[in-house]
Amino acid sequence: MSSYVNVEYEQPGRCDMRHAWARIPEEPSQSRRAQLKEMIRNELQRQNAVLVSHYYVHPDLQDMAESCGGLVADSLEMARFGKNHEARTLVVAGVRFMGETAKILSNEKTVLMPSLDATCSLDLGCPLEDFGPFCDQHPEREVVVYANTSAEVKARAHWVVTSGCAVDIVAHLHQQGKKILWGPDKHLGHYVQQQTGADMLLWEGSCVVHDEFKAQELQALKVQHPEADVLVHPESPAAVIALADVVGSTSAILQAARQRSAQTFIVATDNGMMHRLRGQNPHKTFLEAPTAGTSATCRSCAHCPWMAMNGLENLFHVLTTHGNAIQVPPELARRARIPIQRMLDFTAARGSSSHSGASNVGGGIVPGIGAA
Ligand code: SF4
Repeated sequence: MSSYVNVEYEQPGRCDMRHAWARIPEEPSQSRRAQLKEMIRNELQRQNAVLVSHYYVHPDLQDMAESCGGLVADSLEMARFGKNHEARTLVVAGVRFMGETAKILSNEKTVLMPSLDATCSLDLGCPLEDFGPFCDQHPEREVVVYANTSAEVKARAHWVVTSGCAVDIVAHLHQQGKKILWGPDKHLGHYVQQQTGADMLLWEGSCVVHDEFKAQELQALKVQHPEADVLVHPESPAAVIALADVVGSTSAILQAARQRSAQTFIVATDNGMMHRLRGQNPHKTFLEAPTAGTSATCRSCAHCPWMAMNGLENLFHVLTTHGNAIQVPPELARRARIPIQRMLDFTAARGSSSHSGASNVGGGIVPGIGAA
């Protein structure tokens, strides 16, 4: 038995809130969980398949990926790992754009997902039919899109960016005198604009998880825990970012939690991350930043409803049926690969990892950005 969640999200240019649904699978019993884990392990081995899980999916799927030779990571690293891995079948536990990016980079491989309906409010709120004309109106601007977009939107862009390279790439384009058209996350766009001083025209999309963090309530929690460091993703509102000790990607937040001397952290992230934060730092305390306040309608409660669609049952099902294979038409994949490859080449030429954002952790704001 599954439960359905109705999610409201913003779509720029539409005056009303849009609605989408997420089907959350029921938690299996302890005995069924153990049985499913064993069967999944066997299937992965038998099929020479590898599981890559995002930091925000259920802890069981994170643990399965790690214990079976796969990876738990952010979206770009998931795709890179899948591309470089010898397995012919990649199983992606995350949301749809992650499976698509993996397929774009590894078109010859089979890419399976536990649910093809697991989407993202940034992707949903930036359909090509609206974003394409917006780009057409500003042909003088370089189109830079965050990885949380469809293959069609990526194919329309000059650059795809993700954790760690957005600031560098936009700064590079700014130095060349180029103006930017940015999509889809408005908060991340504001943050990059602030860091680089670039002329950026923003698509006004948002992530239903990170948009919900509340500055006033976070300030109140800071007062209760003055000893705590505050860790925040740049997809949060500017007022929340202003209260942070560290702003950064999932990798940067994990690194900050390990390396900083604080023993208590207030973390504004999807609560799927708590599994890893607590696992890596068993003697430290992690508090979830507030998403609800007197003026709030808590739509997400800091857990992505679409990430929550990934479970052991549908993972096992897709492994045995191969029913949810991601398809990206070869010509579309070819066009979408160009801006992704541009980003990969740029970061390789810089000799920096595009996802760690680790070098400045401890110093406050870090260039490693991107929540998902
Ligand atoms: S957490 Fe936000 S950005 Fe990530 S998949 Fe969910 S809605 Fe999209």
